[in-house]
Amino acid sequence: MREVLVPDIGDFKQVEVIEVLVKPGDSIANEQSLITLESDKATMEIPSPDAGVVRALKVKVGDKVSQGTPILVLDSQQAVKAEAAKPSSPPAQTAAEVDCDVVVLGAGPGGYSAAFRAADLGLKTVLVERYPTLGGVCLNVGCIPSKALLHTAAVVDAARSLAAHGIAFGEPNLDLAKLRSFKDKVVGKLTGGLAAMAKLRKVTVLQGAGSFEGRNLLAVDTQEGKKKLRFASAIIAAGSQAARLPFLPEDPRIVDSTGALELRSLPKNMLVIGGGIIGLEMGTVYSTLGTRLDVVEMLDGLMLGADRDLVAVWQKANAGRFDNVMLKTRTTKAEATQDGIRVWFDAAEPRRYDMVLVSVGRTPNGKRIAQGGARGPCRSGSGGGHEVALRCARHSFGRLYRSRDRMGRPNRGRGEKE
Ligand SMILES: Cc1cc2nc3c(=O)[nH]c(=O)nc-3n(C[C@H](O)[C@H](O)[C@H](O)COP(=O)(O)OP(=O)(O)OC[C@H]3O[C@@H](n4cnc5c(N)ncnc54)[C@H](O)[C@@H]3O)c2cc1C
Repeated sequence: MREVLVPDIGDFKQVEVIEVLVKPGDSIANEQSLITLESDKATMEIPSPDAGVVRALKVKVGDKVSQGTPILVLDSQQAVKAEAAKPSSPPAQTAAEVDCDVVVLGAGPGGYSAAFRAADLGLKTVLVERYPTLGGVCLNVGCIPSKALLHTAAVVDAARSLAAHGIAFGEPNLDLAKLRSFKDKVVGKLTGGLAAMAKLRKVTVLQGAGSFEGRNLLAVDTQEGKKKLRFASAIIAAGSQAARLPFLPEDPRIVDSTGALELRSLPKNMLVIGGGIIGLEMGTVYSTLGTRLDVVEMLDGLMLGADRDLVAVWQKANAGRFDNVMLKTRTTKAEATQDGIRVWFDAAEPRRYDMVLVSVGRTPNGKRIAQGGARGPCRSGSGGGHEVALRCARHSFGRLYRSRDRMGRPNRGRGEKE
């Protein structure tokens, strides 16, 4: 009989237990996850140091633990007997083409920083990313391009406001193609810098979609065919994607934030569905360039996660951009017609728009990592992205690390079901 304690978890202290994964009477394997801890920086599962039978639990969900806190009492003798009684069949080993200490799935800010750190610590690290550039949503289609455009819009707004001070520059001449290319250059510089940093640190970058195939085995669909990676530890940093509204038709004039960032054209009027930060940021850019805005939000305020005093100041300063701010209103239907997108609401009259930006939150990419050759609990089926990913991770390896938008609540997502 032995007491299993929280091992060395780095600088983390008083970390919350968010899941207890075993119960008294369970027979557990060596390295099987016992509890999940979540700090403000990371989620980690604590593996068992031994095989055995759980006799008593010493923690529950909500407890705060640090290194040395007892987790449970383990009867390791029992397990040895139980194991001995089982017919032995060695686990099937699949030949892997690449072996590494750490594989990181997803090269967004969560993934690349984890991969760089692992490499700095001397671990043989492989970074798997399905797209050709590193940086994930943030650098390619998120924070960086949106801030590059917002900065441009802020300069235009500031220059315009000087007219009231007696200095008028006149209306700006807009070259949309040049603006697009400026934004692309900013993105290219940063993503190119990341590729150089990965090279310097000797992180192997593998382009392709990865999915867990078996214990400690990741399959990556690359352009040269399927590659297999055997890893000791894996970090899942698969991020998130824009949530969709299933009743909206497929039409190039209906876009998510990625589509809006492409700046294909400048609509005369635009509906922003979802009054969160991403939608309003993109709306601000288009409005400074000349688009009139409507926003529809089913809750009773804009940017509900933000400080209400700040939002009130923002709303006052930006009121001139909007024709209609429809709060406590749901979008119920949309139809693509030749002269625009006609949209219906439950608490407002239908309206016609040149463009519709859907920004109703983000959903985790968990299901994507369980596609392809995934087997058993790893197969994507029931459950949201994060549940599939967790199931898959538990099945695939003892130690699970997740990062940033990972499988939980995506950053800047708002109220999405997953
Ligand atoms: C328009 C917009 C503006 C934003 N602005 C800001 C901001 O100003 N400040 C801020 O802090 N945040 C902002 N965000 C949020 C920010 O982009 C995310 O929080 C951040 O990108 C999350 O990083 P991540 O590494 O967790 O995931 P991601 O950046 O989503 O990266 C995950 C990566 O994993 C890859 N991947 C997924 N599945 C697989 C697979 N099976 N195989 C291989 N690769 C896979 C994806 O291709 C992706 O590159 C913004 C987001 C958007 C959309």
